[in-house]
Amino acid sequence: MTSTEPAVRARSLYRFYRAGEEETLALQGVSLTVRPGELVAVTGPSGSGKSTLLACIAGMDDPDGGSVHIAGQRISHRPERARTRLRAGLVGILFQQANLLEHLTLAQNLALVQGFARGHKRADRRELIAAMGLEHRGHARPSELSGGEVARAGLAVALANKPAVLLADEPTGELDSNTEARVLELLTAATKDGTAVLIASHSPAVAAIAHNIIRLDDGKVRS
Ligand code: ADP
Ligand code: MG
Repeated sequence: MTSTEPAVRARSLYRFYRAGEEETLALQGVSLTVRPGELVAVTGPSGSGKSTLLACIAGMDDPDGGSVHIAGQRISHRPERARTRLRAGLVGILFQQANLLEHLTLAQNLALVQGFARGHKRADRRELIAAMGLEHRGHARPSELSGGEVARAGLAVALANKPAVLLADEPTGELDSNTEARVLELLTAATKDGTAVLIASHSPAVAAIAHNIIRLDDGKVRS
């Protein structure tokens, strides 16, 4: 693995879903590259394949055709265990519902996620919590955090293992515009450390900060 390796290289991804007679072509030959430190937005109407694309890149789903490499390592078409291990170490995932366990404090949530990625890089927990503007909230449980704090705590979890790429599926869809701006600032800051960021979003605020925009339409990249 060298530093010139793309953080994400997806080549000619195909994904079909079949339900009875009905076949949905969710991805039809999607290719994309995201370099370290690059922030790319994936836009497109509902049903155009954004979530499927992110799931295939994260190794949570496996494409029917094509390949995905993360930091030079192939994550597609490998056994579930191998995909899970690569994901834990190389991919940060930010959901609309923050990926926090309710019965753990923020600091404990971070420690848990770091425990899944032994042998990989990890962020200093205290520094990460401070960088997210949560310095006094490390011992709070998610239910004790405000909406804006939950969003930043979710981002802290996604960055806990210094991922090669952070994938975010409509991360700001439910946030007020101030909180959205704050989260986008923090995502931009993450790119300065070399983290690649790929965001599926309809938000003009996301498009405005993106280095590159990929428009999906019916499972294809629109040029
Ligand atoms: P987007 O995130 O852009 O709204 P999705 O990736 O969720 O789009 O969906 C793309 C297409 O694939 C849609 O037509 C959707 O209905 C279909 N699809 C997604 N997931 C499944 C699934 N698990 N089973 C069947 N069809 C699915
Ligand atoms: Mg979606």
